[in-house]
Amino acid sequence: MRLLYGHFGLSPADASILAQAMEELPRLLAIPPVGLSIGTELVADSEDLERAFKDARESFGNPLLYDFMQNIRSQLGRDALLVVGCGKDHSLAREIRKINPDALWGGTWSEVGLAVCWRIEKPVVWHEALHLLGAHDCYCLPDKGPTCEQPNCIMQYMPSADAGGEQLALCSENIAALRSHVRTCTE
Ligand SMILES: [Zn+2]
Ligand SMILES: [Zn+2]
Repeated sequence: MRLLYGHFGLSPADASILAQAMEELPRLLAIPPVGLSIGTELVADSEDLERAFKDARESFGNPLLYDFMQNIRSQLGRDALLVVGCGKDHSLAREIRKINPDALWGGTWSEVGLAVCWRIEKPVVWHEALHLLGAHDCYCLPDKGPTCEQPNCIMQYMPSADAGGEQLALCSENIAALRSHVRTCTE
């Protein structure tokens, strides 16, 4: 798997937060008990993103997100996973909210390997990126209360700033899920 990131039209400040989050993620994931070795890469040529988006077409049974990721994968590799930062009203953010109306700051469609963040804060970026690596949400609807025992688990509904720091706050269920998913994908 290749964990890529890029953005559509973020301010320089937000683009920098996205980049920092994605650059720190491998170090955070390497710390035991997660202990995973994963690299992240900036989409080198942002024109690739623009082109993939421009060529994506929404039609019945072939939604925009699916088509966009098909295009990304044809340009950047079949094993590409992508974390995108964009504005709240960008089409990708709107499409993600169609799939998951409860998505507040970002959302992920794991089946196609795409995570979209429109609130650019490190915990949000980490939460969505971890979905791509096999983590599941730790909240239940409708009250969005936590379903795991880990205080500030980054997969709870509103990942807080405390969820990062020296190591990622992650519950044992999600640590196991990440390890198992990444192992399966890299075998
Ligand atoms: Zn989530
Ligand atoms: Zn959890």
